[in-house]
Amino acid sequence: MEKIKNYINGKLVESSSGNYIDNYNPASGKVYSLVPDSNEDDINAAVLAANTAFQSWSKTSKKYRSDLLMRLASKIEEYSEELIIAESRDNGKPEALARLVDIPRASENFRFFATAILHFSSELHDMDGKALNYTLREPIGVAACISPWNLPLYLLTWKIAPALAAGNTVVAKPSEVTPMTAYILSKICAEIDFPPGVLNIVHGIGSKIGDFLTGHEDTPIVSFTGGTQTGRHIAGIASPMFKKISLELGGKNPNIVFADANFDKAVTMAVKAGFSNQGQICLCGSRLFIQDEIYEKFKKALLEKVSKLKVGDPQDDGMDLGAVVSEEHMNKVLSKITQAKKIGGNILTGGNRKLIEGDLLNGYYIEPTVIENLPFDCEVNQEEIFGPVLTLIPFKDEEEVINMANSTKYGLSASIFTENISKGHRVAAAIKSGVVWINTWLLRDLRIPFGGMKQSGVGREGGFKSLQFFTEPKNVCIKI
Ligand code: NDP
Repeated sequence: MEKIKNYINGKLVESSSGNYIDNYNPASGKVYSLVPDSNEDDINAAVLAANTAFQSWSKTSKKYRSDLLMRLASKIEEYSEELIIAESRDNGKPEALARLVDIPRASENFRFFATAILHFSSELHDMDGKALNYTLREPIGVAACISPWNLPLYLLTWKIAPALAAGNTVVAKPSEVTPMTAYILSKICAEIDFPPGVLNIVHGIGSKIGDFLTGHEDTPIVSFTGGTQTGRHIAGIASPMFKKISLELGGKNPNIVFADANFDKAVTMAVKAGFSNQGQICLCGSRLFIQDEIYEKFKKALLEKVSKLKVGDPQDDGMDLGAVVSEEHMNKVLSKITQAKKIGGNILTGGNRKLIEGDLLNGYYIEPTVIENLPFDCEVNQEEIFGPVLTLIPFKDEEEVINMANSTKYGLSASIFTENISKGHRVAAAIKSGVVWINTWLLRDLRIPFGGMKQSGVGREGGFKSLQFFTEPKNVCIKI
């Protein structure tokens, strides 16, 4: 059975404990590889290597760093088939999705920030000819980059690419549930002789090694994507140490369909927003608000489409949904469905684990589930489920839907479907979320500020915002 290794100081190494954790294939429920069960010593070794490498890496030219990151991007493309298969096997997502989204985006993240750093400029403030202020933007040190399991390589590279481009070094901790593509990336780095210590990847259980990484005195930057609860815990450790922190957290995103929307487009997008990646995207539109006039017609069209979604073997290109990431997560999602039923929720379709005969019988599959008749303020409609579960909520008018949409503690993203452009603008302005789409969902431009309001996060990533986060501004004032 393959043993995954840590990547520390340019070398692929075992964890110092020599212990391993089972890595499951969610599609079959079987263990297929072993993940290092790292400890404080491994974190210390990685931070030391990164800190040492920072002395030289931070002084390299932007062009040098850019060229190296471009090389990594090309290598990811060269190894894309291996990465696609690995991402699907680790996470349960359809290979087709990994081929369309995850792996191309991972190489794109490197390309994007490799070029962005060449165009990154800083500010100059002229004091009416009496003095000039200019702002230097300096790399900071070792960035602790912690990423979740839902888009493993995609979100890992979204952090490490800008951190490295800006001249920092990195200690990354991917989710222990989906370590394989990060491991392949570290093998690629070793193959191309990436400078030792610049990127280090330590695998292991978040709750065990996370605190050592985020609380280490030599990791002045912490970039975290994951659940709100974990984000709060990390902020509790890193904030009193005055670290720079970026938190990209959970969401319970509203998808609002007005009666004047382009009906077919809104139905298609509602299905995509609800069930892509088995509903395990922080941006999924898991609360579907439909205006009264079209509620019944929309529900019927939506259910027709959902009933056609195919759930099964992620390797089969005909599948729309694969397995959810773990048995524990499957049980959590199913318990939320049970909870919905208990409080009067009407399961319109789905609602159960899906068993697939043969080798995949123990896989973690859930039927795409649509529920109505739940109050907008019940727990199921307020807390993130992060699975293939969509709730329908009717609304009367703009005011009512804005209040309901804004009622959760989250504020990550929202979608609005209307053909009335003024209404679209009005509602977008009133929604409390970091990202709003009008007449679409998940259309991403890597230059935009990305992040959440309220308990969906702190700070923004994307484009120059990421490069600003990973650098420290220093103002220099010259008296003339
Ligand atoms: P978790 O918060 O459980 O874990 C995220 C990462 O943090 C994992 O690598 C995990 O490791 C690690 N971790 C756990 N405990 C600690 C700790 N004490 N210190 C440091 N690191 C720790 O989230 P999930 O992996 O379950 O991901 C799903 C969540 O991520 C959802 O809430 C989703 O909305 C959110 N998310 C947000 C996005 C955004 O851009 N806003 C994008 C994608 C997801 P391990 O897995 O090994 O325990």
